[in-house]
Amino acid sequence: MFLKSPIEQVCPSSQKLQNRLKKMGIKTIGDILFYFPHRYDDFSNLIAISQAKLNQVCSLQVKILEIKTRRTLKKKMFLTEALLGDETGTIKAVWFNQPYLTKVLKTGDFICTAGKIVFGQTGSYLSNPIYEKISVEKPVLDLIHTARLVPVYPETEGLSSRWLRLILEKILEKIKNQLNEFLPLEIIKKYQLLSLPEAIQQIHFPHSLSQAEKAKFRFSFEQLFLLELAILKERLKLNKEKGPLIPLNLDLIRKFVKSLPFLLTDAQKKAAWQILKDLEKPIPCSRLLQGDVGSGKTVVAVIAALNAVRAGWQAAFMSPTEILAKQHFKEVSSFLAPFKIRIGFLTSKEDKIISQKLTHQKEAGKISSEILEISRVKLLAKTRNNEIDILIGTHSLIQDKVKFGKLGLCIVDEQHRFGVEQRAKLLIQNSKIIPHFLSMTATPIPRTLALTIYGNLDLSLIDEMPKGRKKIISRFVNHKERQEIYNFIRQRIKAGEQAFVICPRIETANNKEETENKISSWSEVRAVKAEYEKLSKEIFPDLRIGMLHGKMKVNEKEKIMTAFKNKKIDILVSTSVIEVGIDIPNATIMMIEGSERFGLAQLHQFRGRVGRSDLQSYCLFFTDSPTKTVRARLNALLETNCGFQLAQKDLEIRGPGSFTGLKQWGIPDLAMESLKNLSLVEKTRNAAFQLLNKDPDLKNYPELKKKLQEFEIKMHLE
Ligand code: ADP
Ligand code: MG
Repeated sequence: MFLKSPIEQVCPSSQKLQNRLKKMGIKTIGDILFYFPHRYDDFSNLIAISQAKLNQVCSLQVKILEIKTRRTLKKKMFLTEALLGDETGTIKAVWFNQPYLTKVLKTGDFICTAGKIVFGQTGSYLSNPIYEKISVEKPVLDLIHTARLVPVYPETEGLSSRWLRLILEKILEKIKNQLNEFLPLEIIKKYQLLSLPEAIQQIHFPHSLSQAEKAKFRFSFEQLFLLELAILKERLKLNKEKGPLIPLNLDLIRKFVKSLPFLLTDAQKKAAWQILKDLEKPIPCSRLLQGDVGSGKTVVAVIAALNAVRAGWQAAFMSPTEILAKQHFKEVSSFLAPFKIRIGFLTSKEDKIISQKLTHQKEAGKISSEILEISRVKLLAKTRNNEIDILIGTHSLIQDKVKFGKLGLCIVDEQHRFGVEQRAKLLIQNSKIIPHFLSMTATPIPRTLALTIYGNLDLSLIDEMPKGRKKIISRFVNHKERQEIYNFIRQRIKAGEQAFVICPRIETANNKEETENKISSWSEVRAVKAEYEKLSKEIFPDLRIGMLHGKMKVNEKEKIMTAFKNKKIDILVSTSVIEVGIDIPNATIMMIEGSERFGLAQLHQFRGRVGRSDLQSYCLFFTDSPTKTVRARLNALLETNCGFQLAQKDLEIRGPGSFTGLKQWGIPDLAMESLKNLSLVEKTRNAAFQLLNKDPDLKNYPELKKKLQEFEIKMHLE
């Protein structure tokens, strides 16, 4: 019997059972061995009947003196009653609706029973106790359902913990000696881990709760360790590559910073410094610049790009959508206007190519720039010949025909939208030198997750907002105030401002499961559509209402966003698809329907769509069911304006699964759970780092290497 053997080998069973196992993802003996209990019943208190007390949970080792099943008259229920005895006395046991028991348990049998002693009409008795036969082959010490800590498994229909215990007992006995430890001995010692065979025994049938904890710790450690190894391996591979050496030009940077219409925040300065230091090293850097919406990431990226360009290198700046690319093009061009940088713009959709030439009129203090439309062929040729310094665009930057002459820096906005392969394509421009890589995200991710999801990247954090921003007024709204709020919105729009209305993706449905299974785009569309109809026909017939949802084509979506940006739409009704980085300074109201359905971090993202100018902005959270817990959770939004704190709260309340990106990774459940534990993440990361530094190819650890390969395949990392 081996770990990879099919489960049938140990439990030849009905088709029905097989199907159930399959449904749970259990196919092999190994699968079932690693199906862990979620808690333990403590039946270890083995006592004599005379010691038994009311309401006590205990195990009793007894003889069945009498057992029979009868049917109750009133409720038509099967009642199995037994009289149990030991040297010190007797006690009654009662089971409900298990008539087959009299076939299994006979008068004269020796059993161990476990359960709670309750008091009924006829005195105290054991209610529905668990039982287990004792025999010469099965002495008390070997029991698995009673007289010990008994594992309770997350049960699914038809698979009982009792059944699982029996199977696992069988498997453990046979396979124990085949389980090879794959963790390096020094790590086992250093972190005081149980060995694999010990841990697997103790997680199913622990001697004590502390042993069970230790076993769980070992498996959490092991899973995170593999995860970190997989990620760091990638990282170290890159460290062996050659990157562009871009010296820091301090004068240039000073000049640039002086030219800005604002002062950089300390956080921006620090992040820029970290990136500039990266560029100086001859290995390709990989850095993630994390900063809340509006924290000013673009200008930090521009500092890096300027430094690279002046050193003779090119920079690529990729955005996830056309509209964001245009926004960046405009912003970057205006920042760099005094520096005569040749900036290109390339997107696929419109097939429109703009190249910007800038002239500098210092005396007037004005900057005039010239936007030239040139043909695609010309733009590509210029890019190839290093006549374009910064090329800004969408995914179209990674087409095969786009070749850079001397690409030194790749900047990617909202990187989670780009797959690993896309990133690789952008980086492999020049066979010998791999460009530096800077990725930016406004999605706040708690540190444990960031270290993992983006574990192959160094982190820079902009945790401070530019000064002088007006605080967004956030508040909860109940349905009684709806009319009042609509009046308020009309008033703001008459004053020339704009509003967002966000609807939850999933429509309220009676059948929860159905909704979850078919998170149908239709219900999503309907929720927004209904709201759109209502607002445009009933509430605001005099205003211009637009609609946005995930079922719309990219073209349509961009058209609507552009119209909103150009103030052709007053109120935009949307699902959560609205762009993360989109900048519409004139929008001052964010109204969120059914806010309890969104994660805190996501609600915070919505809030970040407004408050982008010196106008006072408002964020209004509507809730359908302001229960206490919902309120407690949402209150965090009123208490803090910090995306990272909210993300941390989300992690605690909703778990790591609520973070986009993580789900697709297929991280094993145990590792997922452990991601909440910062100290464990750090420990495993250090352990992985030290090991890979010593032995990058794991040559001396063949078992670990094999295990890692399996892990990578499971996680689709390769
Ligand atoms: P994000 O981090 O969300 O991408 P942006 O880079 O788009 O933010 O910056 C948001 C706005 O704030 C832009 O208009 C930008 O010019 C401006 N900005 C950036 N840094 C500062 C600063 N230190 N002080 C004032 N405004 C700033
Ligand atoms: Mg941005």
